[in-house]
Amino acid sequence: MQMKVTDVSLSEAVPRTLFIDGVWREAQASFEVVNPATGRALATVADASLTDARDALDAAVAAQAVWHAVAPRERANLFHRAHALLIERAELFAQTMTLESGKPLTESRGEFKLSAEFFLWYAEQIAHLHGTFADGSHGGYRIVATHQPVGPCLLVTPWNFPLLMIARKAGAALAAGCTVVTKSARETPFTSALFVKVLEDAGFPAGVINLIHTTDAAGVSSQLMSDRRLRKVSFTGSTGVGSTLLSQAAQHIINASMELGGDGPFIVLDDADIDAAVESAIVCKFRNAGQACVAANRIIVHEDVEEEFTRKFVEKTRALRVGNGLDTVDVGPIVSARQRDRVERMVNQLTEAGAEVLTGGKALAGDGYFYEPTVMRFTGACEALRDEELFAPVAAIFPVKSTAQALAFANDTCYGLAAYLFTRDISRAIALGEHLDFGMVGINRGIMADPAAPFGGIKASGLGREGGHDGIYEFLEPKYLAITVKPAQEILA
Ligand code: NAD
Repeated sequence: MQMKVTDVSLSEAVPRTLFIDGVWREAQASFEVVNPATGRALATVADASLTDARDALDAAVAAQAVWHAVAPRERANLFHRAHALLIERAELFAQTMTLESGKPLTESRGEFKLSAEFFLWYAEQIAHLHGTFADGSHGGYRIVATHQPVGPCLLVTPWNFPLLMIARKAGAALAAGCTVVTKSARETPFTSALFVKVLEDAGFPAGVINLIHTTDAAGVSSQLMSDRRLRKVSFTGSTGVGSTLLSQAAQHIINASMELGGDGPFIVLDDADIDAAVESAIVCKFRNAGQACVAANRIIVHEDVEEEFTRKFVEKTRALRVGNGLDTVDVGPIVSARQRDRVERMVNQLTEAGAEVLTGGKALAGDGYFYEPTVMRFTGACEALRDEELFAPVAAIFPVKSTAQALAFANDTCYGLAAYLFTRDISRAIALGEHLDFGMVGINRGIMADPAAPFGGIKASGLGREGGHDGIYEFLEPKYLAITVKPAQEILA
């Protein structure tokens, strides 16, 4: 099959420069951003130097006290204005996301909607951050416990959810009263730029949010992380880079939140509603061309239902329409030629290791970086896949003999982000749900993201949570005031 795709240019409304201290500004260098559906340059964007990055942190540091002093209602009003502007620009966001990340327009619209909801969730929390007041244990003083913003933050985001990641991080940080330097992913700078433009247009003060794009992610981050004025890093991306940032954070004991890789098991027990499981597995595996940290990485199916599940899953996989996300398709391209080549190598390696390819298995020739939706079947655990994220439109099915074996295999990974479980038995759902070593477990559902829920993982999948009531506290630190008071009898005598 030969891919032929249409080319659409990026809207002139999308800023192409850095945003530092309230000003959009050029850098000395620039780099090209490629549309993965065509393989051709979409536009060029300013490439921040170490000096630009330093300027961005200077601005965030200078604005910190000002932003912290803005009254909660006033801060919330800015958020509500920004939320209204976001909604007005929904289609511009969706098209930009599709152009730079490749995801189908329907998925971009879905990501937009969820991102706007996250932003609103944080806006609603601003006026509801309470402390406590208590007597000192031995009298003579009072305990006032409150929360303060941690201080200037570095936010580092990946390309696979270009709006959700920045909206979720910056929403929480800004709501908490922190100022930020946000660094976009090299592949998807333009969605971040549109988001920051919304905040500028809503009236967020200069220096509160600063945006940099760079081809030197390692250099820029290590410079910022070695500056003791930076007080927080919030990172979403691979476990390897997260680990590097954590060791850099150790130097000045910088507060860190990490949303890292996943190796999600998708368990289908023998009593599951197979049609529902197949439907959810298709979404959970092929959404964003499989490039999601919460994707179903290992589909673990009880042997009694494996034939039915696999037959129906393969049938639905074959029906998926692959193509340019601007057209009516189900699966877009892989984000880059480098990632597409990695997928090719990985599938070849897994086939050599004994996996059976039930459908797909090849890159598509022609424009862009497309890979066929693929289903592979394994007869046992596969060493080549141990602790590996497929991160591709490639499904791996593993038959198991029992519920206990399914659980043991699911937990046999260094990761602990999202797991999924399909069963009609509530007791089994609770027992497995409680024993799966993952931060999140979807029971009879393949999608869990919700602003009201704490998103995050354990083990090598990260530290901290985004969203829910916990999300905003990642950017706040408890502050305890011990206030000496004379006994009331003395005062009132
Ligand atoms: P990545 O780690 O290569 O890149 C993520 C970000 O880190 C990008 O902005 C990149 O420019 C930057 N970066 C790269 N090298 C760096 C360095 N040495 N120092 C500082 N920053 C650096 O990850 P990716 O390939 O862009 O994204 C895929 C990974 O992200 C997968 O492992 C996926 O599971 C994970 N992810 C996790 C979540 C989650 O919430 N847990 C969400 C999305 C993606």
